[in-house]
Amino acid sequence: MTPPPAVVRVAVPKPLPQLFDYALPAGAPVPAAGGRVRVPFGRQTLTGICVAVDPPDPHPDPRPLERVLDAGNVLGDDLLALSHWLADYYHHPLGETLGTVLPAGARRGEALAIRRDTVWRLTDAVPDLDRAPKQQALVDHLRAAGGAALPADLEAAGFSAAVIRGLAAKGALVRSETTAPAGAVVRGSGPELSDEQAQVLKALSTGLGRFDPVLLEGVTGSGKTEVYLRLIEQVRGAGRQVLVLVPEIALTPQTLRRFERRFGAVAAIHSGLTDAQRLDVWLRCRAGEVGILIGTRSAVLTPFRDLGLIVVDEEHDGSFKQQDGLRYSARDVAVKRAQGLGIPLLLGSATPSLESLHNAAAGRYRHLHLHRRAGGAEMPGFNLIDIRGHTLSEGISVPLEKIMRRHLDAGGQALVFLNRRGFAPTYLCAACGWQAECPDCDMRMTLHRRPEGLTCHHCGRRARLPRDCPGCGRPELMAVGIGTQRTEAGLEALFPDVPCYRIDRDTTRSHRRLEAQLAAIRGGEPAILVGTQMLAKGHHFPNVTLVAVINADGGFLSADFRAPERTAQLIIQVAGRAGRAERPGEVWIQTYQPDNPTLRSLIDDGYPGFAARELEHRRAAGLPPFRPMALVRAEAANAEPAQAFLQSVRERLAAAPGVELLGPAAAPIPRVANRLRFQLMLLADARAPLHRALRLLTGEGPGPRGVRWSVDVDPYDTF
Ligand code: ADP
Ligand code: ZN
Ligand code: ZN
Repeated sequence: MTPPPAVVRVAVPKPLPQLFDYALPAGAPVPAAGGRVRVPFGRQTLTGICVAVDPPDPHPDPRPLERVLDAGNVLGDDLLALSHWLADYYHHPLGETLGTVLPAGARRGEALAIRRDTVWRLTDAVPDLDRAPKQQALVDHLRAAGGAALPADLEAAGFSAAVIRGLAAKGALVRSETTAPAGAVVRGSGPELSDEQAQVLKALSTGLGRFDPVLLEGVTGSGKTEVYLRLIEQVRGAGRQVLVLVPEIALTPQTLRRFERRFGAVAAIHSGLTDAQRLDVWLRCRAGEVGILIGTRSAVLTPFRDLGLIVVDEEHDGSFKQQDGLRYSARDVAVKRAQGLGIPLLLGSATPSLESLHNAAAGRYRHLHLHRRAGGAEMPGFNLIDIRGHTLSEGISVPLEKIMRRHLDAGGQALVFLNRRGFAPTYLCAACGWQAECPDCDMRMTLHRRPEGLTCHHCGRRARLPRDCPGCGRPELMAVGIGTQRTEAGLEALFPDVPCYRIDRDTTRSHRRLEAQLAAIRGGEPAILVGTQMLAKGHHFPNVTLVAVINADGGFLSADFRAPERTAQLIIQVAGRAGRAERPGEVWIQTYQPDNPTLRSLIDDGYPGFAARELEHRRAAGLPPFRPMALVRAEAANAEPAQAFLQSVRERLAAAPGVELLGPAAAPIPRVANRLRFQLMLLADARAPLHRALRLLTGEGPGPRGVRWSVDVDPYDTF
C-alpha cells in the first residue's frame, strides 16, 4: 500500500510569486488540485487553492495545513487550466490570480452550497378574480415581476399572508425554488430575419461544436443582437449553456429584459450584486442550472458545467480590460476559454477593435458582416460644421442651433454628445492665470454646479469653490471650457420649451433615475438629450433624428496611441443612435479641424476606412496589434525609488532578445493621488520574446519598500 500523501502545494492569495507547501494532517481528505484549503500564513489564516499533492522537491519541514475545505476541484478543469494560463500570460502571481477567479464568498472559505430560497410563482391556472381585487393586484404584481417573487418582497409590497394564502388555495400560486430549470425555454420568437441576418446565422451555425472564433462586424442597429439570440436558441436547444459578455454600461435592465422576453430566466453578473448573490449565480452556473449568463468583465471567469457558446457584445469596449490587480482582457480571455473548450466564440461590434480586425485579416477569426440596418431604417448621413471663427454658446454654434431647431420642430429628438462631465474642465483667474489644480494629482480640477464645487476626476478629491483668486485675491475667476452641465444650461436657455435630459455618470448613479429618464425619452416627444459616452452605448432611442458631436477634436489629438481608435468608435457609436426607426437621421460634428485626415477618413469612408488607415499607422509605428506591448509601471511617494526600480528592471531586461525597451519615463499623468508614476514600455517582435522577457521578472516579489509595481500585458491605455 502506498503511504497517504504528506505534502500539499498551495497557492495563497498574496502578491508573492512562490507557492507554499503544507503538511496534510492525518485523517484529512486529500484535496484535488483546485480544492480549497485553509492554511496558516504568517499570523493569518488564508484560503488557498491546492495546486499539487506530493509535489516534486517538497519543503523539508512544512507547516501543517489547517483544514481541507473541498476534496474536489471547485473551479472545474477548464477554469483551473485557464487560471494557470492567466497567471502565466499576465505575469501575475498564481495565488492572487486564483483569488480573482474565486468569488468573494468562496475566497472567505464559505461552503459552496446553492441557496434554495423559495418564491411564490404564478401557475397557468389563474381564475377570474373580478371579485377579489386584492388577489388580482397580487397577480398583476407577480406578472410585472416576471411571474414570481420572494415572500419577503411580497410582504414589503404590502400583500398580506391572507391574500397570498387565498390565491394559493385557488391554485393560482405555488411555492417553488428560485432556480428556474435550465431547460430550453424559448418564449418569444422575434422578427423574421433579414436576408443578411439569415446568411450570417447560417454561417455561424456551421461552427457550433468546435472552436470557431468569428468577428461579426455589423453597423449600428443592423440586428446583431437578434443574430446572437437566434444562435443562442440553437445552443440552448442542444441543452448547452451560453455566456454573453457585455460592457459595463450595456447591462441595463433594457438589455436583460430583451433576453428574458426571449428565453425566460437568464442570470446576470454585474457590479450591483451582493457577494452572496454573486456566489449563488456562480454556483448555479457551475451546477448547470443557469442556461444563459449575461455579465460584465468578470463573468468570463465563471465555471460552467457545459458551456456551448461565448458571445462578446461590443467587443471593442475598454471596460473589458481590468485596470488593476490581474489586468486581464475579458475579450482575450474569452478567446482562450473558447479555444480550450472547443466551442464557438462570437465577437460582435459596429466598430471592432483594431486587434480583432487584425486577427480577422490574419485568418485567425472568420469575419462576417451586416451592412444594412435591420427593419429597413437608413444609416444616418455624416456632416461637418466648420466652427473656426464662430462664437459658441456653451459649446453650441449658431448653425448647429438652427439644425437642432429644425429637428425639434419636426417632432424629432436631438442628442448632443460631448465627452466631459461637469460644468467646465478649467477654473482660472483672468488677472493672474491661477488655475484650480488637484493638490494630489497633476490635473486640473473640474468645476461642477449642483452640487457646486471642484472635483478631481482622477482621485475624486473635492474642494469648495473659491470666490476670490487664491493666487492674487482678485474676484476674477472664470470657468473655461465646457462640460455636460454647462451645455445643458446653455440648451435650456436656447430651447426653454423643450425638455432636456442629461445623461452622464453624475446623473445616472441610480439605475432607477436612469430608467426613468430613458422611459421619458422613449415616450418620443421632442426632447434634447445631452451627455457623455453613456449615451453612446447600447441604447435604442427610436425618435432621435439628430446626433450632434460638439467637441470631436480633442480625442484625435491626445497622446495615447489608442486615442484615435477610441474617439472614432465613440463617434460612430453615438452617431448610431440617430435614425433607428422610420425617421431618417443626421449626424453633425463640430470641428476646428475640418481637414484633419483622421476625421475625414471616418466621415468619408466610415469606420472600415478609418480602421484600415489607422492600422497602417500602427504598422508603420511598430505598435499593437503589429507588435505586442507591455508596460511595467511603478509608483511611489517620491520619484527616486520608483525610477530607480524601473531602471534596474530595464537593465535586467536589456539582454532579452527581440524586445524594444522605452523608458523608464514619467507616466502621461505623472502624479495621481499624491503618488508619482513611471513606466517602462516593452514592444516585441512577437509574443514569445515578450513573455520570455517578462518572465525574467518572475520572482521579483513586491519590489523595494514604498514602491508599488505591476505588469500590464496588452495595456488598454498608457496612462
Ligand atoms: P444591433 O445589436 O446591431 O444594434 P439590434 O439587434 O438591437 O441591432 O436591432 C436593432 C433594432 O432592429 C431592434 O429594435 C431590433 O428589434 C430590430 N430588428 C432586428 N432584427 C430585425 C429584423 N430582422 N426585422 C425587423 N426588426 C429587426
Ligand atoms: Zn489671480
Ligand atoms: Zn486628484
